[in-house]
Amino acid sequence: MLVCVALCSPQEALASKPATASKNNKTSPRAPAKAPPRAKSPTRPKAQTRPAAAAAATQPEELSDLATWCKTIVPRLSGMPLNQCLSSGLAPGEGRSVRGVPLWLRDVPPPEGTASLRVFVLGGIHGDELTSVNLVFDWLERAGKSQDSVIHWRMVPLGNPDGLLRRPSSRTNNRGVDLNRNFPTDDWSRDAHTYWAKRTGKDPRRYPGATAMSEPETRWLQGQIEQFKPHLIVAIHAPYGLLDFDGPAPPPNRLGSLYLDQIGIYPGSLGNYGGTMERVPVITVELKNARQVSRTEIQAIWRDLLKWIDLRLLPSFAAQVAPATPAAPTAPAVPALLLHSGGLDSL
Ligand SMILES: [Zn+2]
Repeated sequence: MLVCVALCSPQEALASKPATASKNNKTSPRAPAKAPPRAKSPTRPKAQTRPAAAAAATQPEELSDLATWCKTIVPRLSGMPLNQCLSSGLAPGEGRSVRGVPLWLRDVPPPEGTASLRVFVLGGIHGDELTSVNLVFDWLERAGKSQDSVIHWRMVPLGNPDGLLRRPSSRTNNRGVDLNRNFPTDDWSRDAHTYWAKRTGKDPRRYPGATAMSEPETRWLQGQIEQFKPHLIVAIHAPYGLLDFDGPAPPPNRLGSLYLDQIGIYPGSLGNYGGTMERVPVITVELKNARQVSRTEIQAIWRDLLKWIDLRLLPSFAAQVAPATPAAPTAPAVPALLLHSGGLDSL
C-alpha cells in the first residue's frame, strides 16, 4: 500500500483537475457559472456514504500524541523522514476532523518586539495532494531556523487528515466534502450546488457540502483565519504546476518554477473566501506532482515567496504599522529588515 500511495495513480491525480482549469489560458474568466433560474436539490454523492472504516486503523484519539500522529501520517508521504515530523514543533489545535483526528499547527513568531506580518500556510486540505503536506513540513523547518524575519508564520500542514488517511487517500473529507468548496463565500448559497451540478457533473470529488461551513475542518480553518488575521494566506495544492492568486494585487508572477495562471474562482474556495471576502492576498501554490516533489523546488518556492513578501507586501505593511510608532527614530523595524534583494521582473 505504501508503494501505491507513493507512486501510483497518475490517473487519479489527473482526474483531480478542475473542470474549468486551463493552464494556458491566461485570460480565463474569473466568474463562476451563472446561477440558473432554479437550482435542483443537491444529491449527496455516493462517495459520502463510504463508512469511516475505510480510513486508517489507528484510532483518532491516539492521534493527539505527536509521535503516534507522525508514525501514522509519515508512511503515507513520499520521501519524508520521520524525524522531520517529530521535530516539527507542531501542537494539536482545538479543531478535529470528522473522525476526531486533531488538526495540528505551529506558530513561528518573529523575535519579540518586532512588528510582525502574519502569514498563514495551509497544506493538505485535499487529502490526496501529498506533496502539499511535505512542503509545509519543509517550510516549518526553514521558518524555525530563521532568526531575522519579521514574519509571524502559522502553519497547518494537514487540513484534511481523514482524506489523507483513507486508502487510497482522497481529496474529500470523511463525509465526501471538498473542504476547499465549503468556505462561507457570499456566492455559496446561490452558486455552490449549481456549480457542482452543472460544471462538474456532480463530481463526488468536488461536492461542496450540504451547507457552507458544514464540516468541522472548514469551521476550524475559518476560525484560524478569523483569529490570526493573516496579511497573507498561502494554500498549497497539487498537481497543476501553477500559481493562482486572489485578493489585493499584485500577485507574484513566478515562485520557483511555477508561473501565475489564474484558473478561476470557485464558490466556497479558500481563495474566494480569503481574497474576495476578507481582502487578504491568497497565493495558491499548485505543485507539479501530488506524489513527489524535490526539496530543491520547495526551497526555490520558499526563497521566491520571501522575496515577493519583502518587495510587494512588506512596504505596504510597514506603512500600516508606521503610524503606531511615530516617535521611534530607529523604527520601523520592518523596512530595515527587508531581507531579500533581487530583481522584480519574475515575481
Ligand atoms: Zn487541491
